[in-house]
Amino acid sequence: MAELDRFTIFFTPARQCTDCARRSHYGIAEQDDEGALSLEPRCFEHGYYNPEQAGVEEFNTRTRQLRQLEYESITRFVVAMHGEIGQALVIGPCGLSTVPGYVTPDLAHLLNPDKAWSVRYEAATEVAHLHVVFSYVEMKLQLYRDGHKVVYPFSTIKKS
Ligand SMILES: [Zn+2]
Repeated sequence: MAELDRFTIFFTPARQCTDCARRSHYGIAEQDDEGALSLEPRCFEHGYYNPEQAGVEEFNTRTRQLRQLEYESITRFVVAMHGEIGQALVIGPCGLSTVPGYVTPDLAHLLNPDKAWSVRYEAATEVAHLHVVFSYVEMKLQLYRDGHKVVYPFSTIKKS
């Protein structure tokens, strides 16, 4: 089966995220019509793989494959937000109105509506039902838990 034109990739050494100072081993690669490859390193927050950015034909014929990459980028985010501990399972998309604590941003009417998913998170000490939102205003994933938006709870300064 041919590769997707736009796919996720892991590489080493880590490179700086396209949108922030974090370093990452993960990125989104894109192949143009001439076969030239471009790579955008992406941290977990900025690493949402949006299947809607695929070409129309790819979107219609490779839906399952695109969905898998999308869900992987969401679970990767959730696990990173928990200090790389535990595992996450995307249950499925959900309405923004079902996300406790979510407030529609001021500029939202100018952009695509944000997207939301219902996620089950599991670690040795807990099982939790969470929500993840992709914000088109901030162009990043956001975690909602217990009625609040969660701020990344760990130091972002890491020794390399
Ligand atoms: Zn980033």
